[in-house]
Amino acid sequence: MAIQDIYPTALRLLGRPVLVVGGGPVAARRAKGLLDAGAKVTVVAPVASEKLLALVESGLLAWERREYRAEDLDGVWFVQTATGTAAVDTQVAADAEAQRIWCVNASDHEASAAWTPAVAEVDDVKIAINAGGDPRRAMALRDAVATALETGDLPLRRHRKPGATSQGSVALIGGGPGDPGLITVRGRRLLGQADVVVADRLGPRGLLKELAPDVRVIEVGKTPGHHPVPQLEINRILVEEALKGNRVVRLKGGDPYVLGRGGEEAEFCRQNGVEVEVVSGVTSAISVPAAAGIPVTHRGLAKGFSVVTGHEELSEVPARPDHTVVLLMGVAQLRESAAALAGSGLPLDTPVGIVENGYLPDQRVTIGTLGSIADQAEAVGVANPAVIVIGDVVRVSPFAPEHFKTADYSTITPNRPRVRTN
Ligand code: SAH
Repeated sequence: MAIQDIYPTALRLLGRPVLVVGGGPVAARRAKGLLDAGAKVTVVAPVASEKLLALVESGLLAWERREYRAEDLDGVWFVQTATGTAAVDTQVAADAEAQRIWCVNASDHEASAAWTPAVAEVDDVKIAINAGGDPRRAMALRDAVATALETGDLPLRRHRKPGATSQGSVALIGGGPGDPGLITVRGRRLLGQADVVVADRLGPRGLLKELAPDVRVIEVGKTPGHHPVPQLEINRILVEEALKGNRVVRLKGGDPYVLGRGGEEAEFCRQNGVEVEVVSGVTSAISVPAAAGIPVTHRGLAKGFSVVTGHEELSEVPARPDHTVVLLMGVAQLRESAAALAGSGLPLDTPVGIVENGYLPDQRVTIGTLGSIADQAEAVGVANPAVIVIGDVVRVSPFAPEHFKTADYSTITPNRPRVRTN
């Protein structure tokens, strides 16, 4: 039978009686699929595989423990036969044909009245594939389609809202530090489904260009010509748009829960009865140092790290070169912060790295010491966004001056060849 002779359709089997003849793995798989579609499944088979037994024990389907009889077809809408014995399958198929009941015959693809496609299911989309009678080819295509759907490579966005009364939702998505490749797969997929995107100044702004033209982008960060929108107003926009039935994406830089006020936004949505999902992101606190070749922990150099903003918290963090301190939003207070750490006993020759515009084309790295960094930053005009890293881990950066790389680092790992790690 040629592929043009099939008529693809979707059967709505909810609550309808269907029959599965056979107790092996194929029968179990098909019974499971039919159950998932809500059908009332009866299995007829003298023996049942473990998978099938599990379904029977859970009370999901009825098992008639015997050979097939023609009366089994009475009143059913659909039959799957997969007994492993061609003669029995042929008999079931012939009986079904006589009663005009659609039957999938597992042992004879050519003669089968209906075929089971390979199915990709992502969110509320199901894609069924028939591939010229080659099941492995169909499965390979199915997997590729599923991946493309999951990663947001295919346009999953709804164009029709499911119902006038249906509510929208909010996804707080961590977009990573700015490179469009550093958002999670789930984040990208949800972004591709958004009706409204509430965007920040930081984060993967390049992804906004990929949105369909009718997706509304609301800028709430400080961009050229725009003042930042106050937090309460952002919260209000999220809820208002979701209550209109929109799928709202709040696209944030880095991770929503790392100094990003994501917790407040999520809480406000929930308080107002709006469903909210938080999708973690790659935080700039870890990734931006990495962009300059600085690991926030490194064997022999640092076992832990603290992420803080201003200088107030600095009195609480361990003031040791082997405990990395990462400062976000710290440019304006850099001089005070350095003084505070020095005041807590951190040596003035502790290395400090500043990474501006991490992952962006104009990324710049400035390296100095606790004693010198404020003057250096001023001299070169360091500006936000920048991540400041303080601690011995800065020695590992390929941007660090030669004399940083030797000394302590080589004596801490005496058995290792002194290679530059970046
Ligand atoms: N939630 C975000 C941080 C928000 S606070 C996260 O997890 O990354 C904003 C600060 O993040 C900026 O002031 C800067 O310190 C830092 N930042 C974010 N993106 C950056 C980038 N691409 N380069 C340098 N710093 C960045």
